[in-house]
Amino acid sequence: MSLIVQKYGGTSVKDVERIRNVARRVVATREAGHRVAVVVSAMAGETDALVRLAQEAGGPDPDPREYDVLVSTGEQKTIALLAMAIQRLGHAARSFTGAQIGMRTDTSHTRARIQSIDARHILDTLDEGTVAVIAGFQGVDDDGNVTTLGRGGSDTSAVAVAAAVHADVCEIYTDVDGVYTTDPNLVPAARKLSKISFDEMLEMASLGAKVLQIRSVKFAMQYGVPIHVRSSFSDVEGTWVVREEDAMEGLVVSGVTYNRNEAKIRLRGVKDQPGVAARLFGPLGEAGIVVDMIVQNVGQDGSTDITFTVPRTDYRKALEIAERAGVEIGAAAVAGDEGIAKVSVVGLGMKDHAGVASRMFRVLADEGINIQLISTSEIKISVLIEAKYTELAVRALHAAFVEAGAAEPRAES
Ligand code: ADP
Ligand code: ASP
Ligand code: MG
Repeated sequence: MSLIVQKYGGTSVKDVERIRNVARRVVATREAGHRVAVVVSAMAGETDALVRLAQEAGGPDPDPREYDVLVSTGEQKTIALLAMAIQRLGHAARSFTGAQIGMRTDTSHTRARIQSIDARHILDTLDEGTVAVIAGFQGVDDDGNVTTLGRGGSDTSAVAVAAAVHADVCEIYTDVDGVYTTDPNLVPAARKLSKISFDEMLEMASLGAKVLQIRSVKFAMQYGVPIHVRSSFSDVEGTWVVREEDAMEGLVVSGVTYNRNEAKIRLRGVKDQPGVAARLFGPLGEAGIVVDMIVQNVGQDGSTDITFTVPRTDYRKALEIAERAGVEIGAAAVAGDEGIAKVSVVGLGMKDHAGVASRMFRVLADEGINIQLISTSEIKISVLIEAKYTELAVRALHAAFVEAGAAEPRAES
């Protein structure tokens, strides 16, 4: 008998019909003799609708504590409905909010981090033969305030629950049947990966492949939780996220990702002297803004340009801070641009394969796409381009590296 944590995303619980489908899957797993804890998201579209309501009532930046109280209600609806649907099939089920399973987080509302979970409660429920149905995305801080974990956070709730109860597997059920070489909804030629390493999955998640939230992958890596990403509409085997040594798929590039949720800010003609970058990025950090790509040009005549990107949700705040800092550091101009996208290629194979960057730049040049910024790490290359070329860039890179690259296995080291 195994202990299985199953997570069902928004599209899998979009209406009562789908919730009943999930209930049947959960019951089938119980009847196969396993103990099951289920983590659910809000019904599809529900969180977006709650965010819109919050902005209607509270303006563009509603009070974060009240925002969390509101948006966490989406998941609370789903747990009750799913518990009822499981009970109707003759099985015991009980719903739990984040607070009820002691899902403790820090106090950073809207992007809280999980600190601990009271596994005892969940395990007692499972030992009774009852299915525990747990609300994803939400937690509670030390003072009892409701917190949420950031968009897509139910993935992280599920992996954290799986780690806490030492589950044999954390199954992430979604609307695609696994992790693909690129977004299958954008590129029909995308190919399902049977396995992917934690490191590659981490890069893909942080570079825009929203199939798993980044922190869920970090947790899984840290606590050794096996993740199986699969479809809630079929029984086909999905994708296993595994350790590097078990992940050989033979591709140099195993994924192409895109992220249209960033914005670019450029300070022109700032003084080329020590302390300038610190005076710009210090206040951004203090405001909790996570800066992504940064490029400082080679100085000329005592001045230089600094360009960086931030999440689009922080764009207004970041631009204001840059304008204020710009006055202090003598910038000639500060300009922002929301019409950009970051496109990346990811693959462990890059570690022992030269020429990926030059090939990537050639592919983009052949499509007439201009590269604005570049950043690299050992296993990824990202470029910033005009947003309107996103789809073209992703398709061209996928064709060049994955569709053509399949015939070119990477060197085994
Ligand atoms: P859920 O609501 O189940 O959490 P999400 O919408 O958060 O589902 O994530 C699933 C979506 O992720 C897919 O519908 C797909 O469009 C998108 N996606 C982006 N990149 C990838 C990828 N490389 N592999 C699979 N899905 C991807
Ligand atoms: N409902 C939340 C969201 O839409 C959390 C999740 O679905 O993972 O972001
Ligand atoms: Mg999701």
